[in-house]
Amino acid sequence: MLPAEIIKKKRNGQELSEKEINDFILGYTQGSIPDYQMSALLMAIYFKGMTTQETLSLTKTMLHSGIVVDTSSIPGFKVDKHSTGGVGDKTSLILGPVVAACGVYVPMISGRGLGHTGGTLDKLESIPGFNTQQSLEKFISITQEIGTCFIGQTKDICPADKKIYALRDVTATVESLPLICASIMSKKIAEGIDGLVLDVKFGSGAFMKTTQDAITLAKNLMAIGQGYGKKVVAMITSMEQPLGRFAGNALEVFECVEIMKGRQFIGADGVDLYEDTRELSLRLSAEMIHLSGKTKNLDEAYKLASDALSSGRALKVFENMCGKQSGNLSLLPQAQFKHEVRALSSGYMSSMQVEKIGVAGLELKAGRAKTDDIIDPVSGVEFHKKIGHAVKSGDVIYTLHGNDKSLLEKAAELLQKTYEISATPLPTEKQHTLIKEVFYKV
Ligand code: URA
Repeated sequence: MLPAEIIKKKRNGQELSEKEINDFILGYTQGSIPDYQMSALLMAIYFKGMTTQETLSLTKTMLHSGIVVDTSSIPGFKVDKHSTGGVGDKTSLILGPVVAACGVYVPMISGRGLGHTGGTLDKLESIPGFNTQQSLEKFISITQEIGTCFIGQTKDICPADKKIYALRDVTATVESLPLICASIMSKKIAEGIDGLVLDVKFGSGAFMKTTQDAITLAKNLMAIGQGYGKKVVAMITSMEQPLGRFAGNALEVFECVEIMKGRQFIGADGVDLYEDTRELSLRLSAEMIHLSGKTKNLDEAYKLASDALSSGRALKVFENMCGKQSGNLSLLPQAQFKHEVRALSSGYMSSMQVEKIGVAGLELKAGRAKTDDIIDPVSGVEFHKKIGHAVKSGDVIYTLHGNDKSLLEKAAELLQKTYEISATPLPTEKQHTLIKEVFYKV
């Protein structure tokens, strides 16, 4: 069928066959179908959606546009985690080493941050020398030896997704459920894993703003993974407030190392500001370990994960991985300047505009607005108060870290507008809940 006829069929809301999807996507990837026709098909998919069968066909085509990593030489269960992204979301850096320390392999192919959300590669690259561009042979051998390895996408994995995602970004077609699902799952399946734990976030800092939308995304992602014979679990977690004490690349690495050293950071309210990062990392780790079949139940898996963390074994794995990937943790850089944002009234922290906090981070160059922006690894935001905490006028809400004083001042102005203080304590039903639900079946 001619490309224009395939576009017309989708525009009219009809189901495309696997062959039509395959011909179109590969034609575009190989250059015989131009951007304007691909853009038209993407917009038709955006408006008309795709059936489960079409989404599976799209995933399959994108997956086989490149290679599937051959992990068969790694003797055991291979599991990864995918998060839909947020601010201060740094759990990968902890759970990779924790799960590896429990004898389950974690070969992780991660992405860079874009917009208000951070990316694992940027965090790791804030460690001087850390090389995320390993060959696939090296990726396999480090995973085999240490238990985990973190690398970036290579040109050989899902090249169709790379080209289509860039086009979606400039044609307002990113927010389409079937396109998102095929994009995420083709890349994860290409890793050669046996299991996947999804951390699907909802809230003001998440891609999906409501719990219901997060659940819909989670179930669609799970259906594809399970369709490929993978064991998949989805956790629905909050991005109604940033995760942990810091957002910003080197700052987040610092937080993870502190947690792996068994340290706490008690804030003004007597609350450990590392607690949510630690707890979410352990809960995700437990799901990953349990998926491997190593444990009888989830409680046992959680205990294994906690022991790996508290004994320092996870830290050892992380240090070994840094060594293998040429990173020098002892040289982790720090910002020259700090700037405080203080509360203008007293009461209780009632809400945080997390996406706006991420955008203020962009002002500091802690992330990138466009894919070719250069980031400053030392800059970021430190959080002193979380939802429900008591606040007195003049209390520090945020500390900004950076090397450019004028950027710190600009970001501070933005951050002053990112939180609300209520006069009365929050009722129980409005208190923050980190983990909303876990799904084991679609
Ligand atoms: N992340 C991806 O990799 N793809 C999408 O489409 C959206 C988020």
